Amino acid sequence: MELYNPEQALLNARREFGEHGGVAPSISRSATFTVMHPGTMPEIFNGLKGPEQGGCFLYSRHFNPTVDVLSRYLAAMEGTQSAICTASGMSAISCAVMQICKSHDHIVASESIYGGTHALFESLLPQMNIKTTFVDITNLEAVKAAITKETKVIYTETMGNPTLKIADIPALAKEAHKLDIKLMVDNTFSPLIFTPRILGADVVVYSLTKYINGASDLIAGAVCGDQSFIQELMDLHTGRVMLLGPTMDPRVAFDVLQRIPHLPIRMREHSRRGLAMAEMLKKMNIKVSYPGLPDHPQYEKAKELGNAGYGTGGILAIDCGSREKAEELMEVLQNEESFGMIAVSLGYFDTLISCSGSSTSSEIDIEDQQKMGLSPGLLRIALGYTGDLETRMKQMKRAVKKVLKR
Ligand SMILES: *Cc1c(COP(=O)(O)O)cnc(C)c1O
Repeated sequence: MELYNPEQALLNARREFGEHGGVAPSISRSATFTVMHPGTMPEIFNGLKGPEQGGCFLYSRHFNPTVDVLSRYLAAMEGTQSAICTASGMSAISCAVMQICKSHDHIVASESIYGGTHALFESLLPQMNIKTTFVDITNLEAVKAAITKETKVIYTETMGNPTLKIADIPALAKEAHKLDIKLMVDNTFSPLIFTPRILGADVVVYSLTKYINGASDLIAGAVCGDQSFIQELMDLHTGRVMLLGPTMDPRVAFDVLQRIPHLPIRMREHSRRGLAMAEMLKKMNIKVSYPGLPDHPQYEKAKELGNAGYGTGGILAIDCGSREKAEELMEVLQNEESFGMIAVSLGYFDTLISCSGSSTSSEIDIEDQQKMGLSPGLLRIALGYTGDLETRMKQMKRAVKKVLKR
């Protein structure tokens, strides 16, 4: 696999200084922008002039200077020509999918995806005559069998939510490209660890709300891809981001920009703790799923596809056997051990713990949950990085002994 260094790529991006030589970029809050000559306006509307063409800004739903800086940095990190930021991860996903798929088109999607995305594909898109077949994305034969003449997109998460299956992106890209199908990948769980575009994906989508922002204080998303695709999304007359309007606020863009430089340090620490905690639980004979453990079905694949030095992330899935046991363990971890907080989401500096089947994946019906390997007792632990690791491991050990081993 091609060696890719996303951190260096980020440093190589054109640096944005603030007004007056500020080391931080300025926040450009204007909703609209002047043009110096009336003739420029029609040129902008016809796509002949814009910031990318050395022209000017028009209106902040279309293009905002501060949001544009964040888009540039994300594109650099992902190795894509371009990127566009949105108000949420869900809007990034829905706009990107709806830009490619029209009525009567078909999607082949991993069954192990975020609950909101699952609901979009299963319930909303069929109302627009766009149908989805869900498959086990690690079974290439099943993916091939699900493809029809109408298939326009293969959709997966690099690291599936919440079962932590790793998608073989190069193999999926190969199948997709043979048939002129786009491979779209949600890399929310694994920024820097995997670079889907370098592995062959066409479009990479993100919820920036999670690791990339890392502070659980805002909601944001992004689509990274070829310049032509990003321009389609922001086309003034047909672009889904332009017309549906999930615009990122420049103040949000500024906040995320200030946190991207320490994303590599954070990801390494999330991963270091993820592996240590997973190994400890394994030794205690707990059913733990973590892509950095040799008994994980895609352990070798994760090593082969991952960028060097970032580990395998900070999310663990523990099967507690039943929802009652999972809830009991959450209770002890939060209220007795102060190990973490019972909350959905991930990528925070504190540990967030949730029972996926009855929370973030509850949009998926019970039968489908079973098919994708999501047991009702599955506890998702999104490790933070506060507190000393030894102490954290002792807290976890005590809680697990108390709830699961008596
Ligand atoms: C949270 C999440 C989303 C949705 O993102 P929002 O920012 O909440 O809209 C999409 N995909 C994955 C994998 C997520 O974890």
